[in-house]
Amino acid sequence: MKKIERSLVIETIKNMIIESTKILDDKMISKLEESANLETNKLGKSVLNKILENASIAKEDNIPLCQDTGVLVCILEVGRNLVFDYDLTEAINRGVSLGYTEGYLRKSIVRHPLSRINTLDNTPAVIHYDLVEGDELVIHLAPKGGGSENMSRLKMLSPADGRDGVIDFVLETVKLAGGRACPPLIVGVGIGGNFETVAYNAKKALFRPIDDETKLDIDRKLEIELLKKINKLDVGPMGLGGLTTALAVKVNSAPCHIAALPVAVNLQCHSARKKEVTLVGKDY
Ligand code: SF4
Repeated sequence: MKKIERSLVIETIKNMIIESTKILDDKMISKLEESANLETNKLGKSVLNKILENASIAKEDNIPLCQDTGVLVCILEVGRNLVFDYDLTEAINRGVSLGYTEGYLRKSIVRHPLSRINTLDNTPAVIHYDLVEGDELVIHLAPKGGGSENMSRLKMLSPADGRDGVIDFVLETVKLAGGRACPPLIVGVGIGGNFETVAYNAKKALFRPIDDETKLDIDRKLEIELLKKINKLDVGPMGLGGLTTALAVKVNSAPCHIAALPVAVNLQCHSARKKEVTLVGKDY
């Protein structure tokens, strides 16, 4: 069996949060640059260039890309040869607390949705665990902005609604969101599964690299068609019009009940902050 020290998990999470909230990854920057070059709407082009300028200032001056530093979403791939003699969830949250306080990042979590008292350190994080082969802990982390999350939607379609029903729902969601989801977007789409898995699959789709294409032909065709149709909606960067409403569409599908066709749309704003780190277990 192998072990990863609690202190290493805490330090890693802390550093990942501080870095990801201030530096957009290179692939995201390239995609924004490519879109700014192709954008024909004057206002849309100027917004894309401002987003790029903002990213460059954030990196240079070591300040957050956006005032909304989000809810911390964590997907952990846990190697089944690892042993934890401590509470991994508690360690992750300790790292979150340190990341948000030492990084001087906005704390955006309230303890209860109705009493709305701030927890003051952005805990608890939303954590998902996947058990995998091996002795590594792969941490995928994303500080997820509230604006785009608020405009995300889920619907239990009927199988008779079919592919067209899925497309209509995704387009309706992006249109309703308008500028409030801070486009250009990455659109995560879950189809199939049940009520809870469809939402998780839409979220997981957002963790795929921006240039990643699903291997499943039926889903890839849907990704291509959706991207084309979304970019014809003329929502544009920050909702001010233009060709660039979405930078990418990611579809993740799952088997489902014969009577069901669940669909979930999780929107990611242009401040698409995420990071991945692999920790390798040492002899126990
Ligand atoms: S949705 Fe994204 S870009 Fe908009 S305020 Fe929130 S984090 Fe910032």
